[in-house]
Amino acid sequence: MASLSRSWVDGGGNPTDIDNNNTGDAAFREIYYNDGFTWEVDPNDQPFDGRTDLQTVALHEAGHGLSQGHFGRGAINNQTGRIQLSPQAVMNAGYIFGQQTLLGADNAGHCSNWANWPNN
Ligand SMILES: [Zn+2]
Repeated sequence: MASLSRSWVDGGGNPTDIDNNNTGDAAFREIYYNDGFTWEVDPNDQPFDGRTDLQTVALHEAGHGLSQGHFGRGAINNQTGRIQLSPQAVMNAGYIFGQQTLLGADNAGHCSNWANWPNN
């Protein structure tokens, strides 16, 4: 997956920051889905089965489209040998299971970005 962002610019070609949030004002974002993955729609997708839940990835990429970055940390669970992400969120940097709805950390991050809009 990849995304492409373009920002508004002023007459001099400089990125604008109309809302003064120290981030350029996004004009549009495009999301590309890599056909090198084996996509499926499975809300209970399990790690490492070779398939990737399209709805989970679409939700994650839509989060980027709304200026949400990655968060959480990954670690190896010594008992299972598997990767665990904490806090668990759609916006974790890695895909290890199907997650088609936002979790608490996702909501908190989104509110952090947008709670004051358009007044900030
Ligand atoms: Zn991402």
